[in-house]
Amino acid sequence: MGSVGAMGEEALIERLARGLGAVQPPVEVGVGDDCAVLRLGDRTLLFATDTMVEGTHFTTDPTNPLTDLVAVGWRLGASNLSDLAAMGGRPLAAVISTALPAEWPVTWVEQAYEGLRKVGDRHGLPICGGDVVRINGPAALTLAVLGEVDGEPVLRSGGRPGDLIAVTGDLGASRACLRGVHDGSESRVALLRRGLWPMPRLEWGQALRGSASAMMDLSDGLATDLPRLARASGVGVLVREADLPVSDALVTVCGSREAAQREALIGGEDYELLVTLPKGSPLPEVPLSVIGELTAAPSQMEFVGANGEHRPLSEAGGWSHFGSAS
Ligand SMILES: [Mg+2]
Repeated sequence: MGSVGAMGEEALIERLARGLGAVQPPVEVGVGDDCAVLRLGDRTLLFATDTMVEGTHFTTDPTNPLTDLVAVGWRLGASNLSDLAAMGGRPLAAVISTALPAEWPVTWVEQAYEGLRKVGDRHGLPICGGDVVRINGPAALTLAVLGEVDGEPVLRSGGRPGDLIAVTGDLGASRACLRGVHDGSESRVALLRRGLWPMPRLEWGQALRGSASAMMDLSDGLATDLPRLARASGVGVLVREADLPVSDALVTVCGSREAAQREALIGGEDYELLVTLPKGSPLPEVPLSVIGELTAAPSQMEFVGANGEHRPLSEAGGWSHFGSAS
């Protein structure tokens, strides 16, 4: 059957999910969305987990400007909270599992927990338990969060042909933050702040819940995540690269608006919300940019490039665990 690397992330998850069997009450939505959905009486709970691994998601090299263990804890919390936001939910509590090499300084893990505490305090996520184990390899931190949604959660599967595709905030900062020279310029510092300390969009997710037909968070980049939403909804997508929202700092660092928008198309770990909205539906008070629309042909996964050419999203590049990344 070959290795997990050869199989790739999507196929591996599909295969493992089949082995787990069909969902049963109280679970209503299982593998395949940002969170699992559980119905308990008249309450709707959300359940999700995320892992950060040394060397893959963060560095501990003291000479690297991206090394900040407090920010690692923050990002671990933020990525989990972002999955709750993507369903229109709010946090209840979390537990953490920490695998550490014996030689790790205690201050490093204390700093990571401090960052987790910071993002938890800010967004109302208490950490109420966990586990610490030794690992003969790079450190790994896993958080599992429990949340709740007031009303119906927004799934990835509710998009319909003709719906508008929109994103919150601006895109591309995280990817740009990880690459290039950190020269200490104002623009670079702004991107570093965005990349290392992402803000989970909980309030925006809750505000969008009444209007959105589908929603997910952008963790692996628009070119990778949008086809996931489209497949779940059974529709196609057409995105206009020229409409992707980018910050002035990103334009400065990339040298042109077009180059910045290419970063925005493929950049991962932005933790903004990707949302689809029926045309004419009321737009809540959320910073939203309409970037395209859903189409009736599920095989259409296209973007309109800077020169007006139609190209498959798969040619844009992006992040894939185990797979080829660019
Ligand atoms: Mg997600």
